[in-house]
Amino acid sequence: MTRDVTESLRIFVVPGGMLLTPQQNAGQVCVWCPRSLHPGEGVDLGGSGPWWPHACLSCYEAQTRVLATYLDWADHADGCTLCKAAPPCDTAHTMGTDHIDALCRIAKPALCSDCHRITEPHTFRPHRTVGTSGMRFGYLHHKPCHARRQSGA
Ligand SMILES: [Zn+2]
Ligand SMILES: [Zn+2]
Ligand SMILES: [Zn+2]
Repeated sequence: MTRDVTESLRIFVVPGGMLLTPQQNAGQVCVWCPRSLHPGEGVDLGGSGPWWPHACLSCYEAQTRVLATYLDWADHADGCTLCKAAPPCDTAHTMGTDHIDALCRIAKPALCSDCHRITEPHTFRPHRTVGTSGMRFGYLHHKPCHARRQSGA
């Protein structure tokens, strides 16, 4: 069930040229870790001009998995009537588990778009928003964040 996320990865996940070192922009160092890449090594992330980002294989696979599991999960949540109610359905739970596992591997916390706190597993759902710089792949707590705070959870 691996979907092709090459395009989305380049547009939404690969850091822009301003955030990268000259070596990373030149494709000589992985954009996600300090590993240096010899010519012909690494995965071409599809840049152009002075922005020619590459990734080492393990970062590429990890980042691809994070994005693919997120999109599967978010697509499901958008189309599933069971997920409109809380708690979400078992399918969403499984997809969420998969995504959280993928996030752990890149040591990235999931932050709630509303309260900006780190979310604990299975307290949140995917939440896509359109911002000024394009689509943002965020998360939102199931319950309103203020209710969650009051209950001390
Ligand atoms: Zn890397
Ligand atoms: Zn569902
Ligand atoms: Zn929240």
